[in-house]
Amino acid sequence: MTTRGVAILGSTGSIGTTALRVLERQRDRFHVAALTAFSNAPLLAEQARRFRPSFVGLVKNGTAEHAAWGAGERCLVEAATRSDVDIVLNAVVGAAGLDATVAALEDGKRVALANKESLVMGGALVADAARRGGGELVPVDSEHSAILQCIAGRPGSEVRRLVLTASGGPFRTWPADQLDRATLADALQHPTWQMGRKITVDSATLANKALEVIEAHFLFGVPYERIEVVVHPQSVVHSFVEFIDGSVLAQMGVPSMELPVLYALTHPDRVADTGVPPFDPVELSPLSFEPVRRAEFPALDLGMQAGRAGGAAPAVFNAANEQAVALFLDGAIRFGDIARAIDSTLGRLGTAPGGSRDAILTADAQARRHVQELFRC
Ligand code: NAD
Ligand code: MG
Repeated sequence: MTTRGVAILGSTGSIGTTALRVLERQRDRFHVAALTAFSNAPLLAEQARRFRPSFVGLVKNGTAEHAAWGAGERCLVEAATRSDVDIVLNAVVGAAGLDATVAALEDGKRVALANKESLVMGGALVADAARRGGGELVPVDSEHSAILQCIAGRPGSEVRRLVLTASGGPFRTWPADQLDRATLADALQHPTWQMGRKITVDSATLANKALEVIEAHFLFGVPYERIEVVVHPQSVVHSFVEFIDGSVLAQMGVPSMELPVLYALTHPDRVADTGVPPFDPVELSPLSFEPVRRAEFPALDLGMQAGRAGGAAPAVFNAANEQAVALFLDGAIRFGDIARAIDSTLGRLGTAPGGSRDAILTADAQARRHVQELFRC
């Protein structure tokens, strides 16, 4: 039986290593055709030995030992457009994933998208690329995987509302006056998910949920006024879809990214997989839901406003957030500064035009510069 070739961009990260665990159990359906990473050469080399891809790419830190590997930023697009690749799992973090998402869709591939930042920055570009090249975008994000499974091919005219669940992050119950000075160690203590550092901080500010609202808007074509967020601390209900007859479907499961990663590869089919923990509703009880504390976590509304504004505003939101999170991870700014930086950047650049890759990358660069100047870093 022929197996489908999968390229994993960002194979050394949290989603990348999860995907390799999933693929290890699916060798009769898929093979790893390409792997790329940013700078972790030892782990990438170990993965390459184990999975024998036809292409390996390392953006930075390659040595003479890696002469056979692709190098530099372009190795992402190279991996994403190879003829032996059918599915591109984009598990890169941040804006660096944009060109590979677009190139893969233009080349007619399925993109299993974890890299939500590329869709947030370039929603229209990404949709255009898929139309032109016949590529297909399938979400890996657990909320969007849930929504895709609940919609199950029904027409958009039957969908009344999407309700994305949010764990609330580590600061869900913190008093407002302590949030500003929350430390990096506090922010990295996510209650339900083990993830890379950037998305873990995004979950603490709720910027992640703003990115996900924009992601849902572009994936499912639902207007912003019909996308809502509810806090669900147990992360068992991955999201809800309300239909026009008032019926609400939810998709549930133990918090594990293995299921949404696998589903993005096999959609619309389902295959047996022993890696997903069994579901025991009694064990997982009780399930609870709360409103978002919007005043304490302003990044959510800032991102949703950027989504509604359109143009390059989502790219500005994303870039300001990425730059501010990088500064926070370096210990250069406070937790509360992340949302302040986003607010100030959207105030300055929030009406920038989108439309082309150049316009989006210009807005992205200006937003990063604005945040650096704000803190004189
Ligand atoms: P991570 O930091 O653990 O891994 C990121 C990967 O991308 C690494 O392999 C790294 O080598 C590579 N990378 C980083 N910067 C790069 C660059 N400039 N160029 C090329 N490659 C680069 O991150 P993660 O938690 O795996 O998240 C990856 C993406 O998936 C993010 O967009 C995140 O929002 C999304 N996501 C993650 C989870 C999760 O559970 N971790 C859940 C949903 C969505
Ligand atoms: Mg998510």
